[in-house]
Amino acid sequence: MSQTRHIKVLIIGSGPAGYTAGVYAARAMLNPVLVQGIEPGGQLTTTTEVENWPGDTEVQGPDLMVRMEAHAKAMGCEIVGDIITSLDLSKRPFVAKGDSGNTYITEAVILATGARAKWLGLPSEEKFKGFGVSACATCDGFFYRGQEIVVIGGGNTAVEEALFLTNFASKVTLVHRRDELRAEKILIDRLMKNPKIEPLWDHELVEVTGTDTPLGVEGIKVKHVKTGAITEIPAKGVFVAIGHAPANELVKDVLELHNGGYVTVKPGTSETSVPGVFAAGDLTDHKYRQAVTSAGMGCMAALDAERFLAEHPATVEAEAEASAPAAE
Ligand SMILES: Cc1cc2nc3c(=O)[nH]c(=O)nc-3n(C[C@H](O)[C@H](O)[C@H](O)COP(=O)(O)OP(=O)(O)OC[C@H]3O[C@@H](n4cnc5c(N)ncnc54)[C@H](O)[C@@H]3O)c2cc1C
Repeated sequence: MSQTRHIKVLIIGSGPAGYTAGVYAARAMLNPVLVQGIEPGGQLTTTTEVENWPGDTEVQGPDLMVRMEAHAKAMGCEIVGDIITSLDLSKRPFVAKGDSGNTYITEAVILATGARAKWLGLPSEEKFKGFGVSACATCDGFFYRGQEIVVIGGGNTAVEEALFLTNFASKVTLVHRRDELRAEKILIDRLMKNPKIEPLWDHELVEVTGTDTPLGVEGIKVKHVKTGAITEIPAKGVFVAIGHAPANELVKDVLELHNGGYVTVKPGTSETSVPGVFAAGDLTDHKYRQAVTSAGMGCMAALDAERFLAEHPATVEAEAEASAPAAE
C-alpha cells in the first residue's frame, strides 16, 4: 500500500554526504528521512581498501558505509530503501515520488545523489576494477609507488591525474586516442615538461591484461587508431580518466548547474538556486570528489537546512515521528 509522508527534511542518497547529513539532521531533531537509492552506501561500496578516511589507517569501503548507515540510524535518521523517481521543487512543500509508490512531502531537501566515473565499457576493465584498474588517482595512486602505470584520456581530468600520479609512479604513460590534448594550456605545459610522463598519441585501449590468481594488472594492449597496429605496454595500474557524470537527473532542468552538470551551490554553503534545497558531495563537486569532502558537505547541508527551517516555518504539519508514516 502506498504511503504519503509529511516530513521536515528528505535526504536523497546514501553515500558519505547523505549519511553525514542524516547524523547532523537527526541530532538537530529534524526527524530526517534518508532514501538510499539504487546503490545503498554509494560509490565506496564498489572499492576495497580506503586509506584516507581519518581515524582509520585502512578500512574496507563497504564496511565503512555499513558503519555510516548504522551511525545515522542510531542518531534517529530513518533510512528508507527506495529510489526517488521525480522531485517537484516548484513550491514548498516539495514533493518527491519514490519507485515504491510512496510520496514524500517535505519542507527541505538535501540532494546527495553523487556522481559516477565514466568507464570505457571493456570486459577486461570491469574484471580488474579495484584490482589495478581505477578511476581515482587521489584514492588509489598511493598503491602504485615506484611502479609503471597508464592513464587513459586526454582532457583536464586525464592530465591532472597523470601529473598527480608522478608523485608515486616510476613512469606514467598517457594514452590518448587523438594527437592533441583537450586540457587547459597550463596543464598541458606541465605535462609535457614532466620527465616521468610519456604521451602515447592516436592510441586507444583495447584490453587490460593481467593475472587471475591473485587478480592483478600486468599491462594493457592499445590499438593505433589509424593503422590498427596493436602495442603492449607493461603497467601495474590503469587509471581511466575520461570524466565523471553527476547524478543530476532529478534536478537538471530546475537547478543551476556548472561544469557540465554539477549542482551549483552558493560559495561557502550548500544552498542551491532554490531556497530550501541543499546539495552536498560529488553531485556538486567536480574538483575534490572524496569521501571526506562529501561528508563535510553533508554536515554543511544539514546545518543549512536546520537554519532554513528555523527561519521558514513549516507549510504543513510534519509527522511527529518520521518513523510513523500515514497510510493513504
Ligand atoms: C572505486 C572507487 C574508489 C574510491 N576510493 C576512494 C577513497 O579511497 N577515498 C575517498 O575519499 N574517496 C574514494 N572514492 C570517491 C568517493 O567514493 C566519493 O567521493 C564519495 O562516495 C561521494 O559521496 P557522495 O555521498 O557524494 O555520493 P555517492 O557515494 O556517489 O552516493 C550517491 C548515493 O545517491 C544515491 N542516489 C542516486 N540517485 C538517487 C535517487 N534517484 N534516489 C535515491 N538515491 C539516489 C545512490 O544510491 C548512492 O547511495 C572512490 C570512488 C570510487 C568509485
